[in-house]
Amino acid sequence: MSSDSDFVQRVDGAVYETEEPVLYAVADGIATLTLNRPTVNNAQNSQMTYALDDAFRRAVNDDAVKVIVLCGNGKHFSAGHDIGTPGRDINKSFDRASLWWDHTNKPGGEYLYAREQEVYLGMCRRWRELPKPTIAMVQGACIAGGLMLAWVCDLIVASDDAFFQDPVVRMGIPGVEYFAHPYELNPRIAKEFLFTGDRMSAERAYQMGMVNRLFSRDELHAGTYALAAAIAKQPRMGLALTKQAINHVEDLQGKRTAMDAVFAWHHFAHSHNELLSGDKLGGYDAKAMIEANKTAAGERR
Ligand code: ZN
Repeated sequence: MSSDSDFVQRVDGAVYETEEPVLYAVADGIATLTLNRPTVNNAQNSQMTYALDDAFRRAVNDDAVKVIVLCGNGKHFSAGHDIGTPGRDINKSFDRASLWWDHTNKPGGEYLYAREQEVYLGMCRRWRELPKPTIAMVQGACIAGGLMLAWVCDLIVASDDAFFQDPVVRMGIPGVEYFAHPYELNPRIAKEFLFTGDRMSAERAYQMGMVNRLFSRDELHAGTYALAAAIAKQPRMGLALTKQAINHVEDLQGKRTAMDAVFAWHHFAHSHNELLSGDKLGGYDAKAMIEANKTAAGERR
């Protein structure tokens, strides 16, 4: 883990441990986008979210890229939204990717609503809909905000030590902002996943159809890129139309409208928390969530 001394204050006031929160590389028709905050388990701050948006745009614009692999540098894919590092930049303004206005000077519920429409729901939808096949390559932890990044990808390949978890019900919140849970898992399993906040193993996620392929950690990279290479042989337009077709059917099944409704409940929960305690996350930061996770796991043993 990083110490606070790894973080450097920039002239614009932001405090970051890296200027490259997402790495970008292309080889053999495959673009690799790497979440690059390994010392904080690839926790997502806005710096990373906007860099990821730029990287996806770059991969779409490059005609040499047929397939996009999204992965995480280090031990874990992603620990979720950054709710506790010095690089948490929730109060910083960015050039926005959508037409939502800047959230940073807005009062009440508007603050988080505008922010999360832009950086979570809006960006995740755009990433899901980009017209090239995407593959999430997941190792270690894939928690809450990490799920959003894996779920927006068309395919998920995981190592057998990966696990998936959405523990935000503990904060009084009905799941992460991109509410795909009952589409990724059957509804009863999705309820168990959320009610308990327990880790789901890669093996279980594979059995549920949430993960396409499972490899040992050593074979994860080769297995993922073999799959990507096979897809890259297909014609660009055929892939784009197929992706649109399946996404469209999911939306006819209610995925898009369901997410709109749950996003509203999600924001009722943020506002309810703030009314009760003055804290939109119900008093939990990263450290408190890790402690609560340990206690809950111990109680079930
Ligand atoms: Zn939220």
